[in-house]
Amino acid sequence: MKLFVLLVVVLLFVIWKKYQKRLSEQDSQDAHSPAGESPASRPPTPARPSAAPARELLPCSVCGVHADKASLSLTAGGRYVCVLHREDSPS
Ligand SMILES: [Zn+2]
Repeated sequence: MKLFVLLVVVLLFVIWKKYQKRLSEQDSQDAHSPAGESPASRPPTPARPSAAPARELLPCSVCGVHADKASLSLTAGGRYVCVLHREDSPS
């Protein structure tokens, strides 16, 4: 019986510790935003890597303007050109 009581006390201590840790983590997150603001109105944080995949920006070989790799087209010469220079680039 003594052992059982000890087990319950240890279990409650572990649960309480986990609960305290969660509370402190939530407090540190809430500290960044003003009080009363809902999480939905918060602007998206770019620090999160999973929020948006990193887009690869490449320069157009004609005008040098950096654009998303998906919007650029690869020429026969292995160069990336933007939409504007897709036609008049030598291939
Ligand atoms: Zn261009």
